[in-house]
Amino acid sequence: MKSITILGATGSIGQSTLDLLRRNPDRFKVEALTAHCRVQELAALAREFNASVAVIGREDLLGELKAALAGTDIEAAAGEGAIIEAASRPSDMVMAAIVGAAGLAPTLAAVRRGATVLLANKEVLVCAGDLMMAEVRRSGATLLPVDSEHNAIFQVFDFNAPERIDRIVLTASGGPCRQTPAERLPFITPAEAVAHPNWDMGAKISVDSATMMNKGLEVIEAFHLFPVKASQIEVLIHPQSVIHSMVQYVDGSTLAQLGSPDMRTPIAYCLAWPERMTAPAERLDLGRIGALTFEAPDMERFRCLGLARAALEAGGAAPTVLNAANEIAVAAFLGHRLRFTDIAALVDATLSLADMKAPQSLETVFALDAEARRIADGLIMKFAA
Ligand code: NAD
Ligand code: MG
Repeated sequence: MKSITILGATGSIGQSTLDLLRRNPDRFKVEALTAHCRVQELAALAREFNASVAVIGREDLLGELKAALAGTDIEAAAGEGAIIEAASRPSDMVMAAIVGAAGLAPTLAAVRRGATVLLANKEVLVCAGDLMMAEVRRSGATLLPVDSEHNAIFQVFDFNAPERIDRIVLTASGGPCRQTPAERLPFITPAEAVAHPNWDMGAKISVDSATMMNKGLEVIEAFHLFPVKASQIEVLIHPQSVIHSMVQYVDGSTLAQLGSPDMRTPIAYCLAWPERMTAPAERLDLGRIGALTFEAPDMERFRCLGLARAALEAGGAAPTVLNAANEIAVAAFLGHRLRFTDIAALVDATLSLADMKAPQSLETVFALDAEARRIADGLIMKFAA
């Protein structure tokens, strides 16, 4: 029996994780569940899984959480600090599935106590990759990639001989705007942008998939997770999302992991690692799919992909600023305050205005992140006009 804490239990990844736990009641015990504001859902999940503690991010919802848990012995808590505390409590595993840089401090808390961290929250590695990986090495924590591409690479990467690896190829579906006529792009609505052709995900990552910032963030994520240089990370559009990524070896062999687009497969891989467990994802039927196609990404259409690559190459503060500006831009787009094509423009403009000193500590990461958000917020009006 392994104990697990789920940060972001009410989200898409959190729900998929809980679905697997529900099917395996003898293997996992839930320690803590956290959510940002969906308090009734959180309470219902805490009751169903008999969690030890339930934490809601918004402090004003503590009363409601306590009322919803009345009559149980589940502890209730609220606030950012309480989420960090939940991640710090002893448990074998922590699913890091909060969206955005908001997940940084709690994920770091889990890493610092040497937990096995199942990492979905890619923004954490984008905004503080060097610090995070240094903490992983120091604490001896185990980091298992949940993101389907990185999970695929993890499954076929020979960590004993990284010098025998030529490059890694991150596949990308290209999202819902891959074939949209260029003149229509500025008028893409939030509803169109979140309607992903293959994956059912939270709103922020869905918009990131539409701009392909998601793949840019994933290039940075891969850079931190695997011993390769930035120049060894390639992006390839593969609209069917069957090949989840590939590793090419120096002898010309290419190893890939394939599967139906269902996050329960990579999550199950992480939950059971180093073993495997049954997951309910639809079995891959290549005969029915018939053809797998590939194309190079159009870098003019997907400006965000180029911005992320440039930020990785620039290093220092650039990835932190890129991530913060993108979070502000995506929120503004979802709130109908920014046009789809201005997401890239806002990120670009913020990068050119922000202080680019490399963050040396967690405090400086937070300061840089806050400053980039302030700059991006201030620029929105300019684009909206
Ligand atoms: P989601 O929006 O569905 O869920 C986000 C979760 O985080 C929710 O439980 C929410 O309550 C919590 N949360 C949001 N803001 C918070 C805050 N300020 N403080 C504390 N908690 C907060 O998102 P998702 O699609 O599940 O994605 C979660 C993470 O996993 C993201 O980083 C995403 O990039 C990554 N990811 C998701 C998928 C997917 O298929 N959904 C695939 C790969 C990677
Ligand atoms: Mg992914």
